Amino acid sequence: MSDAADVAFVNGEIHTLTAPDETYEALAVRDGRIVRIGSTYDVEFLAGVDTDVVDLKGRVLLPGFIDAHTHLTTVGRRLVHADLSAADSPTEAVDLLAERAAEVDADGGRPDDAWVLGYGYDESEWAENRYLTRRDLDRVPTGRPVAAFREDMHVGAVDSTALATIETEVEAAPAETVPTDDDGEPTGVLLETALDAVYEAVAPGIEKTRESIGAALAHCARRGVTGFHDMVRGSDAPRVYREFDRAGALTARVRVNYWSDHLDALREVGLGTNDGSAFVRTGAIKTFTDGSLGGHTAKLSEPYADAPDESGQWVVDPGRLRALVETATAAGYQLTAHAIGDVAIDETLDAYAEAATDDLAVARHRIEHLELATDDAIDRLADAGLVASVQPNFHKWAGRDGLYDARLGDRRTETNRLRELHDAGVRLAFGSDGMPMDPLLGVHHAVTAPTPSQRLSVTEALRAYTLGSAYAGFDEDRLGTVEVGKRADLVVLDGSPWENPGSIRDIDVAMTVVDGDVVYDRDAVYDGDVVYDGDVVCDGDAPDGDATDDEG
Ligand SMILES: [Zn+2]
Repeated sequence: MSDAADVAFVNGEIHTLTAPDETYEALAVRDGRIVRIGSTYDVEFLAGVDTDVVDLKGRVLLPGFIDAHTHLTTVGRRLVHADLSAADSPTEAVDLLAERAAEVDADGGRPDDAWVLGYGYDESEWAENRYLTRRDLDRVPTGRPVAAFREDMHVGAVDSTALATIETEVEAAPAETVPTDDDGEPTGVLLETALDAVYEAVAPGIEKTRESIGAALAHCARRGVTGFHDMVRGSDAPRVYREFDRAGALTARVRVNYWSDHLDALREVGLGTNDGSAFVRTGAIKTFTDGSLGGHTAKLSEPYADAPDESGQWVVDPGRLRALVETATAAGYQLTAHAIGDVAIDETLDAYAEAATDDLAVARHRIEHLELATDDAIDRLADAGLVASVQPNFHKWAGRDGLYDARLGDRRTETNRLRELHDAGVRLAFGSDGMPMDPLLGVHHAVTAPTPSQRLSVTEALRAYTLGSAYAGFDEDRLGTVEVGKRADLVVLDGSPWENPGSIRDIDVAMTVVDGDVVYDRDAVYDGDVVYDGDVVCDGDAPDGDATDDEG
C-alpha cells in the first residue's frame, strides 16, 4: 500500500468555505477523503504513478452543494413528463401537454403512462396570471386523463376525463380544496388534500421511479449537487436509493426525510434519525402545517392582498402538529415542519417549545420554507438553535409585480429575510424545493434579492448551501467544507461567484466529485479530454426539457 493520493486537484482556486473562508491551490484525495490541502507543490508530493492529476486551470473549487429540501422524484418526473416550467402562458402549457400526449401514445401507453402529466407551471410569471383549469386541459387532444401541477405541488388541475376518474374522491374532499365556477361545477383546479386522489392515481411503479431517480441524479451531477435531503411520502424512492447504493451507482448522498405517516413503521423496524450507510440515511420526520402562498393557503395573520376574504388553511392543524412533535421528539427523531405564513411559523415554534426535550438544538428540529417569519419568530429560532431550511430561489417572486407582491402587497419585502436570519444567528440551510433544483441559481437570488434584508454575501450564501445544509443533516463533521479529513464531495465552477456576483446563475458547473469519484465532467464531452474513463457516469448533454430552464 502506498501513501499516494488517488486524485490530486492542482492549480485551482480552492475555497474551504470554513469561517473564515481560506483559499488554496491544490488538494489531494485518498479513499474518498481529503488528505492534504495546500500549494500545488505541496500536493504534488502525494502524486504517485497511479494518481489522477486534475489541472483546475485556475478554476474555483468548492465543497459540493447539499440541497436541504427537494422532492427528487418530482425533479425526475419533470425531466420525464412535460416540463411546464418552460411555458409562458396557458396556451403554451397546453401545447407542451399535447406534445407529451403524442409521446405517450407513440410509447404504446404503458400502464404507468395512462395519464398525460405536466409538472412545474408557474402562472405568476405569465401575463395571463391564473391557474390552469379543466377548460385548458380539455383542449389537449387525447383520450387519456390529463393533469398539470403547479411548481409548488399544492395546486393542480385535471381535465374532464381525469375528473370523472376520481369523481368520488373529489366529492369527498373539503369544499375549499375544490374551487367551483358560477354554475357550481368544479373548475378542475384542485388544492392541497384534494390533489391526493390524483397523486394516488398517477403513483409510479418501481420501474418508473428508477427512471425518474436516474434522470434526477444525472441532473444533480450537472448542477454540482453532491447531497440532498429528500422529502418522501409513500413512494418507492427509499427502496430505489438503497438499491442504487448497493450497486455503487448512487452519485449523490441522500438523507430521506419521511412523511409523518411513516413514523410508526420506522419505529417498529428500529430505524432512527441518522441511521443508514455513508450514502443513504434516515433523516427527519416531515410534516406540513399550512399550504403555500401561490395557492392562497399559507396561514397569514392578515388576509391576502388579492383575496381579502382569505387568510390561508391548515393542512395539518395545530393540535395534530403538537401531538406529532411530542411523539417524534420523545422517540428521538429530528422533526421538520413545513411552515410558510407567519401564523403557521408561530404555531410551529410553540409546538417545538412544548416538545419533550431540554435541548432543541440537540434534536436539530427544522422549519421548512419560513417565508414570512416575524422579528419575534426570527429571535425564537435563533434562541432555540433551530434550523431554518429556506429556499433562496423563492426570491424570484419577491420583486415588484411578482407573486409576493400580488399575494402580500407591501409585506413582499418581509419575505425570506435571509440577512436578518443570518445576523440573528439562525442556522441557515439552503435548498431548492425542486423549483428548479439548481444551487447556483439559489445563490444568485440570495446575493441579488430586491431588499437588503433579503440579501447575503457570496460567501454566506455558498456556506448556507454547503455547511449550512450539512449541519441540518448532522453531517458537518464529514461534509460541507473543504478540510483534511472530510469526504471529497466537491464542485468545480467555470467562473468565480466572487468575481461575477450579479450573474452567478450563468456560471457553469465544470465538474462534480462525490466521495473522490468524478460523477460529472463537462469537458469530457466538450473537448474530448476524458480524465476518468471509468468514473464519469453522465455526460455533459443536458436532455431536452431540462428542469432548470427556468427564467424566474
Ligand atoms: Zn417541498
